[in-house]
Amino acid sequence: MSFSEDESYLSKDVADVDPDIARILGAELERQSETLEMIASENFTSQAVLQAVGSVLTNKYAEGLPGKRYYGGCEVVDQAEQLAIDRAKQVFGAVHASVQPHSGATANEAAYMALLKPGDRVLAMALDHGGHLTHGLKVNFSGRTYEFHHYGVSRETGRIDMDEVRERAKEVQPALIVAGASAYPRIIDFPAFRQIADEVGARFMVDMAHIAGLVAAEVHPSPVPFADVVTTTTHKTLGGPRAGLVVTRDEEVGAAVDRAIFPGLQGGPLMHTIAAKAVCLGHAMTDEFRERQARTVTNTQALAQGLSEGGIAMVSGGSDNHLVLVDLSDTDLTGKDGEERLDRAGITVNKNGVPFDERPPTVTSGLRIGTPALTTRGLGADEMREIAAIIVSALQSTVSDDEMAELRARSGAIGDRFPLYPRLETGSAVGAA
Ligand SMILES: *Cc1c(COP(=O)(O)O)cnc(C)c1O
Repeated sequence: MSFSEDESYLSKDVADVDPDIARILGAELERQSETLEMIASENFTSQAVLQAVGSVLTNKYAEGLPGKRYYGGCEVVDQAEQLAIDRAKQVFGAVHASVQPHSGATANEAAYMALLKPGDRVLAMALDHGGHLTHGLKVNFSGRTYEFHHYGVSRETGRIDMDEVRERAKEVQPALIVAGASAYPRIIDFPAFRQIADEVGARFMVDMAHIAGLVAAEVHPSPVPFADVVTTTTHKTLGGPRAGLVVTRDEEVGAAVDRAIFPGLQGGPLMHTIAAKAVCLGHAMTDEFRERQARTVTNTQALAQGLSEGGIAMVSGGSDNHLVLVDLSDTDLTGKDGEERLDRAGITVNKNGVPFDERPPTVTSGLRIGTPALTTRGLGADEMREIAAIIVSALQSTVSDDEMAELRARSGAIGDRFPLYPRLETGSAVGAA
């Protein structure tokens, strides 16, 4: 192989090497720009995070921890991981941070491995009331490894009933109680959970995957002072790269989490992603980030008010955080229909079960709608009120094809006013990195 061939292998653009994938990257940028992204677990990360994720750090093996690696040449990536650790501790007011989990699911797996033995009992939020599959779904590693029991929300209020949690905890006598959810629009009472855990001699874990950005900006109470372990994703409200992290208020528990991640669960850490977590946690220390998280909450309230005025029911009647859960159970429309209707109106959401849902999980009676991504894009309460009106119209049983096209044009016009990744909008989703 000649030198020039070798060089071109290393330095050719994806557009030249793989036009199929290049076209897909461009098309996805276009899709993200042209629709209103309201999936509550999604966000738009920054150009700076994209650059770190697309960096040469992906080449490096760094099993172990900063200063204690199983590979040579780690002196540079050590600095990236140390920055990520220090910033995670500062942002969340924690004593220890583990920044290597590849995802939120792995972060949970590590926390369980650090605190439990296989077969131990765990009490967590029911999946069909808003919990997550890593909180004890039978076919998930969690449900296969540990004996999960569940609490739910009250039928009357749609909120977690702490008296029920206490009762369940006394019955089950769990080794661990888990709080945190994927589809719960209200503030969770962390001190009350801590008290119940203490009453029954359980450890207490919070999975703040959805709300970490709100917690970092102090627009939502922090679980860190109350929980033995706090796990999170870094790509939902926090707005960083797709990954996870774990923080603790205790050095010893933190060290057990580190050992659970490596060598317990993972091999080499994704150093490019860890560098991107450092960038994201750096963002989290800025006033701009705090403004955005505060606006995420006010935007959700504006959305909820608009939906409510349009006669749309929501679980618990509204929201304290970044999402609403539309409840269609008293209508002829299913969650599946609703998702399709909003898709046609240019708004991306996901169908979602509501508590006590009588329709199957592939159909459901709910829609989960979140504001983090559009808030990052720059939208405010006025736009949220307009989006609420579009959603109300799209969900009317009488809506015609022409009206639907009009709604889609209105959504598109809102998006056009808030350009996404202006430096990337040149036909290539990787050009500026
Ligand atoms: C999203 C989520 C996770 C899992 O995160 P992944 O990165 O998708 O593995 C875990 N717990 C909760 C509550 C979540 O919402």
